[in-house]
Amino acid sequence: MEFFESDIPRALTKGAYYKGLTLGHEFSGQIVEWGSKATEWSVGDRVTIAPLEPCMKCVYCNQGKFGLCDTYNYYGSRTDGAMANFIKVGKANILKLKDTISYDAGAMVDPAANAVHGLWRGNLK
Ligand SMILES: [Zn+2]
Repeated sequence: MEFFESDIPRALTKGAYYKGLTLGHEFSGQIVEWGSKATEWSVGDRVTIAPLEPCMKCVYCNQGKFGLCDTYNYYGSRTDGAMANFIKVGKANILKLKDTISYDAGAMVDPAANAVHGLWRGNLK
């Protein structure tokens, strides 16, 4: 089995895209600061993050097929990830967590989404 864009092969076999890369692409946390254009968030909001940041310019992005983007960015792989005290993310990647969802469960939103996508692609009934 080969893993793509995961922390383990990135750390143990493939190597980092650049020296000093901070791993961590499945995470959740709390907003501590935001940019002037991110008015929909408040300090203290509990969130999880979609790690893939599409270019929004290529043919695939224009079709809404963000996972096929040729020049995507990816937290913890192509840019620094969340195994740090703080991470800067794009506002389009932020998903708010309900108070009833733990941070651990919040960090599993992206892996769960990948699993659901696989089930849909497999046409499982
Ligand atoms: Zn794109």
